[in-house]
Amino acid sequence: MLAEYMMFEGDSFDWLETVLPVLAEGFASLPPGPTPPLDQTAMVEVLRETAIRLRENYPYFHPLYAGQMLKPPHPIARAAYALAMRINPNNHALDGGRASSQMEIEAVRALAAMFAWTAHLGHLTGGGTFANLEALWVAGQLHPDQTILASDQAHYTHQRISGVLQLPFASVASDARGRMCLDALEARLQQGNVGTVVVTLGTTALGAIDSLPEILALRDQYGFRVHVDAAYGGYFTLVSNLDAESVAAYAALPAADSIVIDPHKHGLQPYGCGCILFRDPSVGRFYKHDSPYTYFSSDELHLGEITLECSRAGAAAVALWATQRALPLTHGGEFAGMLESCRSAALEFYRRLCVSSLFIAPIRPQLDIVVWAIPGATVEESSNRARAVFDAAARRDLHLALVHLPRRFFASDTWPGSNRTSHDSARVTCLRSVLMKPEHLAWIDQIWERVEAASQEVVMR
Ligand SMILES: *Cc1c(COP(=O)(O)O)cnc(C)c1O
Repeated sequence: MLAEYMMFEGDSFDWLETVLPVLAEGFASLPPGPTPPLDQTAMVEVLRETAIRLRENYPYFHPLYAGQMLKPPHPIARAAYALAMRINPNNHALDGGRASSQMEIEAVRALAAMFAWTAHLGHLTGGGTFANLEALWVAGQLHPDQTILASDQAHYTHQRISGVLQLPFASVASDARGRMCLDALEARLQQGNVGTVVVTLGTTALGAIDSLPEILALRDQYGFRVHVDAAYGGYFTLVSNLDAESVAAYAALPAADSIVIDPHKHGLQPYGCGCILFRDPSVGRFYKHDSPYTYFSSDELHLGEITLECSRAGAAAVALWATQRALPLTHGGEFAGMLESCRSAALEFYRRLCVSSLFIAPIRPQLDIVVWAIPGATVEESSNRARAVFDAAARRDLHLALVHLPRRFFASDTWPGSNRTSHDSARVTCLRSVLMKPEHLAWIDQIWERVEAASQEVVMR
């Protein structure tokens, strides 16, 4: 089984052998270039050493890795990326990445269409952080000196990005399910001077969905910009097994001013692939600059004219384009089905947590992230036990994650032995599992067996 997971690439090596000559044919008229002298034995020796170093990883590719937000790229993405490496295009300018720039435009258009946007301005970025930076940078150009608001469950980088951009930032409290608290938001809006509200569809810790329709109604009243951070959750707009509140939030997405989505999170891409989308293409004016070096080959738009980054991997765009050709972003399609499996796995895992006395599951998952606590007399005992279960599960080859959650996410009588007001018990260390591989559904019994055994071991001590 393990060999199978590792050798999954076997097929894609064959695919590459088939298509490399097709690529080469496009350059057949050139005189043959020099072939660099390579010491084959030495190269293999270095690669052997590299493989040994790479063993020092958790097995991210395997369904028993059910911890952090890590998902193996699809074989088509790896193959297309490797194919593009023969060219190593740079999507800053058409001079450096002609075909791959066009493929980026097409791939980004498909992402925008997934959110029902026809007109848009957008491009790929190195990741979600840089994509959010561009969103908040444009927000700051439109509303200079006005405050950026995000919930206390929003990604930590929003505050840092605001600092980099020298825009005031304020955090809005979240409710007992990890969503932005609408009363707290409105109270802050009444104080005035809010330029932008960051709405998270799929928070990183919990997968919680902020109430976008209600926040858009507040936008009508108070007039601010809405940036949706859907770095992790964006693709769930395609699935059919969400709760009614999430469905309403995704249905409202087209009314956002900007959206960030990370193809390297749920989009089956290698790292180095985020995406920023703006609803109003005219924000492109803020990016306007001239490059003395690069914009010569064409009067068409160079992607570097609408990005803050200069050089970017054209291969990332090629991989995304090929993946979307193989697995189109359609409701009811194969790709949507994969995400539905992830969500079903999370719901089944949550159901089992709820009926077992070994666990406390405070929040029903909105996407595919599950969090749970281990009972204990005090918050401290629970937190220590969660850390011990994390280790005990790892000894059984099951890799989970840990998360600190505010105590207010739990019922008030959860820890009768804890002093509710004491500072050191304000946060509870919990276990967290991102079930973002479609295979997690088929592996749920194997995962559950290990979670139960690890917890029994810890509680018996
Ligand atoms: C992962 C994540 C980010 C940061 O994206 P990177 O690609 O890691 O830079 C931002 N926001 C949310 C909601 C995320 O889940």
